[in-house]
Amino acid sequence: MYEGVVQDLIDELGRLPGVGPKSAQRIAFHLLQAEPTDVRRLADVLLEVKAKVKFCSTCFNVSEDEQCRICRDPRRDPTVLCVVEEYKDVVAIERTREFRGRYHVLGGAISPIDGIGPDQLRIRELMVRLSDGTIEEVILATDPNLEGEATATYLTRMLKPIGLRVTRLASGLPVGGDLEYADEVTLGRAFAGRRSADD
Ligand SMILES: [Zn+2]
Repeated sequence: MYEGVVQDLIDELGRLPGVGPKSAQRIAFHLLQAEPTDVRRLADVLLEVKAKVKFCSTCFNVSEDEQCRICRDPRRDPTVLCVVEEYKDVVAIERTREFRGRYHVLGGAISPIDGIGPDQLRIRELMVRLSDGTIEEVILATDPNLEGEATATYLTRMLKPIGLRVTRLASGLPVGGDLEYADEVTLGRAFAGRRSADD
């Protein structure tokens, strides 16, 4: 539609999650009209975040170091592990101040339609973490939607035979939504009222 680099910009923006062709065009034209210093600041922070931010080698949370702040914190309970889909779920749960254990970030949820099976998630890494016997309870805090439920059911079947206490968040979270969109009070209550997982 547009020429050369302008179209390249629209194409790149259109690849971002939640940005349709119309929004991509609107952002592109906003950037074309913006002050060069403003655009440079955006470009710099994009490069900086890629250069600086890594994933924690233990839990796969975002981290500026080899291990994230939560894994390094000796005051966190080493016997309880909360399994979430994305690192933004860690942020949401931390906000509730209801959880004092550590996390494991799967990197998504089982979704056959998108070609995501257990092998595409960090389940192998989870099993390695569980193998030394320190962790006694695993809380499955996947999203309250179809993919999240499928993932929790799969994990329950894998983890229960090992003899671990496997729990799910209490109901009351908005069904079909993302964990991160639940308000702090609701999410906190769901945590406090967690129940044993059935497979
Ligand atoms: Zn970590």
